[in-house]
Amino acid sequence: MTDTGRMGPFCRIALPRPVFQSFAYRVPPALADAARPGVRVRVPFGKRHEIGVIEELTSEAPGRKVKKILEVLDREPVLSPALLRLCRWTSEYYAAPPGLVFRAALPPGLLGDSRPAGTEELKRQVIEIAGEPLTLLERDRTFGRAKRQREAFETLESVGGSATVSHMEGHYGYSRSVLAGLVDRGVARISMTTVTRDPFAGSGEDVVLPARLNERQEQVLAALTAQSLEPEPGVALLRGVTGSGKTVVYLRLIARALERGRSAIVLVPEIALTPQTVQRFRAAFGDDIAVLHSALSAGERHDAWRALRAGERRVVIGTRSAIFAPVPDPGVIILDEEHDGSYKQSDTPRYHARALAAVRGREEEALVVLGSATPSLESWHNAARGRYALLQLPDRATPNPLPAVEIVDLREVRNRALEAGEAPESIVSPPLREAVQARLERREQSILLLNRRGYSTFLQCPACGKVWSCRSCNVSLTFHRARARLVCHHCAREEPVPGSCNECGEAELQFTGVGTEQVERRVAELFPAARILRMDVDTTGGKGAHGRLLEKVRRREVDILLGTQMIAKGLDFPGVTLVGVINADVGLNLPDFRAAERTFQLLAQVAGRAGRGGVPGEVLVQTARPHHPALQAALQHDYETFAEAELADREPPGYPPHRRLVNLIVSGTSEERVAEAAESTAATARQIVERHALSDIQVVGPAPCPIDRIRSRWRWHLLLKSPGARDLGALIRYLARHHGQPAGGMRLEIDRDPEALL
Ligand code: ADP
Ligand code: ZN
Repeated sequence: MTDTGRMGPFCRIALPRPVFQSFAYRVPPALADAARPGVRVRVPFGKRHEIGVIEELTSEAPGRKVKKILEVLDREPVLSPALLRLCRWTSEYYAAPPGLVFRAALPPGLLGDSRPAGTEELKRQVIEIAGEPLTLLERDRTFGRAKRQREAFETLESVGGSATVSHMEGHYGYSRSVLAGLVDRGVARISMTTVTRDPFAGSGEDVVLPARLNERQEQVLAALTAQSLEPEPGVALLRGVTGSGKTVVYLRLIARALERGRSAIVLVPEIALTPQTVQRFRAAFGDDIAVLHSALSAGERHDAWRALRAGERRVVIGTRSAIFAPVPDPGVIILDEEHDGSYKQSDTPRYHARALAAVRGREEEALVVLGSATPSLESWHNAARGRYALLQLPDRATPNPLPAVEIVDLREVRNRALEAGEAPESIVSPPLREAVQARLERREQSILLLNRRGYSTFLQCPACGKVWSCRSCNVSLTFHRARARLVCHHCAREEPVPGSCNECGEAELQFTGVGTEQVERRVAELFPAARILRMDVDTTGGKGAHGRLLEKVRRREVDILLGTQMIAKGLDFPGVTLVGVINADVGLNLPDFRAAERTFQLLAQVAGRAGRGGVPGEVLVQTARPHHPALQAALQHDYETFAEAELADREPPGYPPHRRLVNLIVSGTSEERVAEAAESTAATARQIVERHALSDIQVVGPAPCPIDRIRSRWRWHLLLKSPGARDLGALIRYLARHHGQPAGGMRLEIDRDPEALL
């Protein structure tokens, strides 16, 4: 062998299987040159062949006979050494199966899926939604009594706006004539190929970027630039109020990295919700930008990945998984809206893009910038303790200050109505109604937020008290009026709406709890002349729907935009001068330690949509808990006071950022066995803690999860709490290795640094 530095003849391979281990194989001499860390290989596994990634080469014999690699699939590694280390760190830190981490890091089709990428783009008949997404009222008008067509249309929406005709026929059972009916009504079209469009392609021309930074922005830019030139740049937290011009600072910072011959990674919570951010990046960097988002086809993702790896595009903007983007030598990594929960993946590997950004930054000597108006308490705490640099933009960059926020006390509204002998109005209170009316008269736009979809959230029998809940999950069903169905928001199971109570026969059932559909209806009644647009998961299922709907708002074809949290993020519409929060208490009442933080963030974010143009903005928040600290702080735009109070509140129960948390969830179909398995996992954890004197780790539980059954699986959990990170890691890796797969179809999920404990 000429290459003396090479190890061998064994290697460890990560296979995309749900087990916390990699597998030993032998490298035959013929493949010795090609087999390098980071290349994909084909190996025998059981009776089949599988594709995996070489993690490392080793001269150490595994101590038993191992099989040989059959084939090396790549000439160049699909993962650079830095990305390989990032993947291994992710697997270790989260105790996640290494092969699943590698799969998450690569474009679809490269791993664990033996079809070459792009074959699903084969020619075949595809039915696709055409035209504008339909509002509730438009649906009623379009479909009239053609119920089956409406169902087919909504099925199509729910699968992302397009599907093959054979899938619609075979899987969902819609006949050709029903599908043809959709085409006749002009709401869908049928074509011979999959139509893949980037809804944001080509836009960006009409975006005007400010020519000069203001003084504060210049200072922040100078500080960030200096930090990025340090040998170990580390992490900077940029707290800037909504509209302070954080994006403009990012653009300059990236331009400087490019000038130095480096590249950049920008993460955003959800591409579809932040089209304007993407447009500004396009305007600034043109063809140097690659956009990675979930609406891309596998082929498109693969193309973007290849262009980035080849250095043809040097700036990537994408959602959480773009932290693995193969850009060579990133100089800056930016997480915009760093507090957003979508940066945490909710299934295995349950990584947080913010944690990975810090690790990748260290590996690549890149500066990591975390930007937010309302930083996560974790990041705020890290900045306070000097682990992150802290930079602030306290004022808006535009002429208008932050909007005035006022509270509408729903209890008072109710009492006043009752005194006057009127029916109380809880959806649009009199002050909110007046404020909207004034906007309509002045031809300004309003945004109304309610973070709960559907028509009403409970169906109850007033006679016997029965609440309709999901048969598979322990949650109540939401009534969706457009679909005329009860729907489970956890497993998507649907049921017809009963005409009477099946327990006691009562005919008058009660619908309670307001959702966005009902708000839409009420607003349409109150303001019959207004042009209303609802945006929530139910109206934005089609491909590119977000972009099209938001474009309507931008063109001022909409007077009132209403919807869930998806309308709260990153939008910059100068015509919006009023924001109304229909019920701020929705999120406050969740049994989760982040409930207050999430509510504060949401209020601050949605309030930030008002008054971004020439006219000052106004925000009205309806609530029955006006004295809650999260609301009071939002009223004053006072992040720091909120953070201080919330940090103090979390100290006694030992929640993050004071303690590190791991949530261990045991699930299975038998309640009894799940409880037993949870008890035994807890006992093991306690034993290890004792035996190894890991006295810092506290094992709490087990107990049933707040939602104790989802998709017919019972769920119990236990919490590990610790002030430090290291022992916690060792403990969960032990559990993953030895208790990763409890018997009897049960599952153990390990959720390190959980975003929620539901
Ligand atoms: P953020 O990302 O902090 O919410 P943006 O970067 O979106 O803020 O900026 C908010 C608005 O202010 C945008 O319309 C932007 O064009 C404008 N803006 C930002 N910086 C400046 C500046 N230096 N001069 C003029 N306008 C600016
Ligand atoms: Zn369900």
